[in-house]
Amino acid sequence: MVLTEIFAAVPVIAQSWMKSMATDAPDELKMDDGTVSCIPASDCHVSKHSPSTIGSDKNGNGERWCGVLNTCYKTNGVIKDDDPRVHMKLSRSDEWVQPKNIADFFTVIRTTLEKGKMYRLIAGNTGSGVYPPANAQTTIDITALPLYKCSIEGDTLKLGGCIPLAKMIDFLRTLDSDQFAYAEPIAKHLSRVANTPIRNRATPAGNLMLKYLHPEFPSDMFTILESIGTKIEIASINDVNGSTLIPICNLLDTNVSMKGKILTSLILPKLSGQEYRYHSYKISKRYQNAHAYVNAGFLIKLDTEFNIIEKPKLCFGGISKSFVSPLIVS
Ligand SMILES: Cc1cc2nc3c(=O)[nH]c(=O)nc-3n(C[C@H](O)[C@H](O)[C@H](O)COP(=O)(O)OP(=O)(O)OC[C@H]3O[C@@H](n4cnc5c(N)ncnc54)[C@H](O)[C@@H]3O)c2cc1C
Repeated sequence: MVLTEIFAAVPVIAQSWMKSMATDAPDELKMDDGTVSCIPASDCHVSKHSPSTIGSDKNGNGERWCGVLNTCYKTNGVIKDDDPRVHMKLSRSDEWVQPKNIADFFTVIRTTLEKGKMYRLIAGNTGSGVYPPANAQTTIDITALPLYKCSIEGDTLKLGGCIPLAKMIDFLRTLDSDQFAYAEPIAKHLSRVANTPIRNRATPAGNLMLKYLHPEFPSDMFTILESIGTKIEIASINDVNGSTLIPICNLLDTNVSMKGKILTSLILPKLSGQEYRYHSYKISKRYQNAHAYVNAGFLIKLDTEFNIIEKPKLCFGGISKSFVSPLIVS
């Protein structure tokens, strides 16, 4: 064997040696749907770990929770409405709260604001990899809120705001292209967003809120959802039992405030594949794991002769912080 062949073989041998030392994740972890991060210890029937007490006061009273993630949730079923919220006191006056339902979520916000404290929401908490998180004394983890459901409701498709991107892609791929012309192209586009671990945690609501907070962010989610006329459902502390529906592009309106509000779901229209053609584009440094230089989504309604019979929707991202679509399309 000549010397060059020996050198070429070394990395291959080293790689297979390293692989032989590794083990795959356990089955229960691979099956984890990534939606719940912890539950109170009192409900944990399977964990062999002893629950830890977090944030106890000087008399030892505090909320106890299980450090073993998700296992208990699976055995135990869905988190119940009357489960106590997870509440951790962190250093100084900071705290971490995980409410279990929307009413409790607004109670936490109200109490925080009454104390004159700032709060921030976290869903997948991947946004801090893009922009530094806002300063806040109270962190509200919204992953236990019931905002994961996806369903077809009449002429619309409703997607829970906190569904992880990976699940959203899977769901879109189950849809009939005759009724949802955009489903497969959008699933394909979203599979270019970030990378697998990020897509397992990141949520559409978090992505859209990054766009709201930083309009210059070239969000793929915003561009493609705007190009098909998506609306978003917002619940507010001022109307705990109701919600407001607004076009997604209103998030760029400087008069819109999200204080005391939560983005609960996305409402996508049914667009027949017989009538509509949908394409999206992303120009970026790499195929995945790179923000778009420019992204675009085009929706066109055609007749059987391929004549355009409705004003097409052409949306772009990455051009400037206020530009979304050309005003006039002829
Ligand atoms: C390495 C990397 C690569 C990426 N590449 C791309 C890319 O190519 N294209 C792209 O579009 N994006 C990309 N992103 C951004 C990514 O999609 C977002 O970070 C993600 O979608 C945010 O979702 P999250 O659930 O983690 O939000 P979080 O980080 O939890 O929250 C982000 C913000 O949204 C707020 N928020 C979250 N949920 C709600 C809610 N329901 N209601 C109101 N406010 C809420 C939070 O308060 C916070 O201000 C990338 C991110 C990383 C880290």
